[in-house]
Amino acid sequence: MIDSAQIVQNALKLGLVVPAFNVPYLPMVEPVVRATVDTDSVAFIETARLEWYKFEAQGLRPVLEAFNACERPEHVRLHLDHLPVIDEDELRVDYPSILKEAVALGYHSVMLDGSRLGLEENIEATRKAVQIAHGAGIPCEAELGAVFGHEKGPPPPYEELFESGKGFTDLEEAGRFATETGCDWLSVAIGNIHGAVSGALKDQKKVAARLNIDHLEKLRDATGIPLVLHGGSGIQREYVLKAVKKGIAKVNVGTEIRQAYESALRESKSVPAAQEATYERTCWLIRDYFELAGTRKSVIGCQPSATGLH
Ligand SMILES: [Zn+2]
Repeated sequence: MIDSAQIVQNALKLGLVVPAFNVPYLPMVEPVVRATVDTDSVAFIETARLEWYKFEAQGLRPVLEAFNACERPEHVRLHLDHLPVIDEDELRVDYPSILKEAVALGYHSVMLDGSRLGLEENIEATRKAVQIAHGAGIPCEAELGAVFGHEKGPPPPYEELFESGKGFTDLEEAGRFATETGCDWLSVAIGNIHGAVSGALKDQKKVAARLNIDHLEKLRDATGIPLVLHGGSGIQREYVLKAVKKGIAKVNVGTEIRQAYESALRESKSVPAAQEATYERTCWLIRDYFELAGTRKSVIGCQPSATGLH
């Protein structure tokens, strides 16, 4: 079984992407896994701390148990998404103990989000997280720049944000950050935004975000590591496909499948019906949106050194 780091490296070399699906409700795990298997692709199931409190994912262990109940190691890996140092309510989080718990439970990769810190503090916290993850032989993702959307209240007007490049990951900082922290994957801000998670905003359709592809290319060259696109729902598709060719090797998808689950559940009052809606939407994302159906063999099977792929 090849590890998560290798999967993402392979995707990068092949110009493909590994979709990482957030599961804010535990019954979403099974249909996402099934969709990945049925489309013969590779994906991550991921869980973020805010989904344990603001939604119904409950915690590291319940998600792991839901994952284990339908695990298909040749198709899916389990990732700890957004473990913030300072959370969306501005509270300090005891991240080392949560990281250690994830590692002990057997999560296949983790993310530390120090993006609400200044650069030096973010480097320091990420280094600590990388040490814990690498100590267990798993990769660590980090974030630099501001991917808006998880805060309370409405996000800043999108067009203004995009034109000014406010919060975009800085090139020089990114180079330094990658070298000094040793993180394996870096979540970047290039015009992408998170789906809102609070109040009535969370049911709204996301803005059709764009991406600054030139900036992405420069970030790729400056860091030399696979880059991650958060807020993958609702970005205009042509931008996502271009981004995948220019350094994005993992893309996080939350809102798109969460809203499919929630609206089906509201209408039908039936969890199996909501699971079916999740399955259909995940299949559509993998097959039609990211065009990844049938790529499992190349992503899992490609051994760059042995096959001479560059
Ligand atoms: Zn994110």
